[in-house]
Amino acid sequence: MSSTFYNEILTDHNMNPIHKHELEGANFRLEGVNPSCGDDIILNLKIENDVIVDGAYEGDGCAISQASADMMLDLIIGKSKEEALRLSDIFMRMIKEGITDEERDELEEAGVLQDVSHMPARVKCAVLGWHTMEEMVRDGKTE
Ligand code: ZN
Repeated sequence: MSSTFYNEILTDHNMNPIHKHELEGANFRLEGVNPSCGDDIILNLKIENDVIVDGAYEGDGCAISQASADMMLDLIIGKSKEEALRLSDIFMRMIKEGITDEERDELEEAGVLQDVSHMPARVKCAVLGWHTMEEMVRDGKTE
């Protein structure tokens, strides 16, 4: 995947985020912070019968943290909790140790963040949204 494509997707999700807004009816809300970069994400999810029926985020941070949260929500809205956690596991492994091409295809646009695995300082930015989602969906954490 070319770095131009990577930059285009990151820019697009920052200029025109799809899921950056308040979420009415959210029943899970959790803040995720990455002090080393100054990223701050408040993730809101609406979970019914173990399905993530809707989700959104608010906050500020670098392009990677914001785009990653936006792409993650694109991927997990409409999915079961179990499926969201399975995708999160693939994403974490992509950043930390590498995955197969088939697994990366499952991540759709979020797969462009594979490049981040070569940028140790940005890893926490890329996983912030996913990590926050895991704490809500797996551990039931909410504010
Ligand atoms: Zn960051």
